[in-house]
Amino acid sequence: MLRRSTNTLGYSHALRTAHSSDTDYPDITGLTVVIPCYNEVDNLEHSYAEIVSELGDLDLELLYVDDGSTDGSLDVIRRLAESDSRVQYVSFTRNFGFEAAFSAGYRYASKPWLLHVDADQQFPAAEAHKLIAAAKAGYDAVFGVRTNRQDPVLRRWGTAAFHFIGRKLLRIELPQGATAFRLVRTELARRIVDLELGTPYFLATVPRLTSRYTTVPVAHRARARGKSKVGMSFLSSHAIELFVGFSRRLSTAASVSCVVAGGAGLMTALAGATGLLSGEALDTAVLLLLTVSLAASALAVRSLVVVGAGQPRPRQFYVREASIPVSAADRLFNPTPSLEST
Ligand code: UDP
Ligand code: MG
Repeated sequence: MLRRSTNTLGYSHALRTAHSSDTDYPDITGLTVVIPCYNEVDNLEHSYAEIVSELGDLDLELLYVDDGSTDGSLDVIRRLAESDSRVQYVSFTRNFGFEAAFSAGYRYASKPWLLHVDADQQFPAAEAHKLIAAAKAGYDAVFGVRTNRQDPVLRRWGTAAFHFIGRKLLRIELPQGATAFRLVRTELARRIVDLELGTPYFLATVPRLTSRYTTVPVAHRARARGKSKVGMSFLSSHAIELFVGFSRRLSTAASVSCVVAGGAGLMTALAGATGLLSGEALDTAVLLLLTVSLAASALAVRSLVVVGAGQPRPRQFYVREASIPVSAADRLFNPTPSLEST
């Protein structure tokens, strides 16, 4: 059985009762395609044409998030918006990174569902139909999993290590193999963005809000134009934020090693003082070693706590220009009253 309601955004959605079957979910008609882009000038028109030809039958919005591009991407996006009323955009004051870019898209998507598609066509738009079919079975989020990932071997190994450490060692709930190619209820995605976590990580936050998520195998292509914008240093620091922000195991291990090193240092000092240990050079070396490891552990704990506790940081992104209304808090420059009235 289903009850239907209309939320504040004016679209109707189904509220499940305990006994509803999975096929009771409504059709996914209204869809915002969120396209984060950073210096993708050569890809934008190809990707637009592909999305429109595959998904144009739906009630579609294409929401481009220009993440501070410097290569003329914004000019292309403006042109697309002029020629197609389904195209909207927000443009950042600088490059804020991938997580910030799609988060802005999720916040300002206007349709009840959103589909995240990278601008470089690595995920074929046609694969979205698989995600849509899965969502209709009753999921709040469906993640594409690359069956034949077409990225350099180092990236593939890095992702495997990331999932192993995150899922197995640190026991963080992450949808296995999930990627950014995903279909999500906009209400859920917006909730996650609005949490404004100190260490935002969308993949790991979805399972904290709902158990109705799943993964679907999808095809993957090599990048045809332009370079990957996501470097190893970004990926590793983003992974560390996940490990620290979504699990206590790392900080616990650092605290334990701190205590163990401190205890061993004390015992060595006592043994030296009572004459149990001889050999001055040996004593000094051992004490030095222990002092260093103690200091290192203390530093590790400090940095983990600072990062893990969400040290105050600037907002995730700021918008300079947009084709849609954007909240004042998300803009860096707001029109002054005197300018507004002229
Ligand atoms: N991207 C972005 N901001 C960034 C880096 C990337 O908006 O700082 C966009 C990029 O333009 C692309 C998507 O995020 O549309 C995925 O980036 P990329 O293809 O470089 O990542 P990869 O596929 O190599 O993981
Ligand atoms: Mg890519």
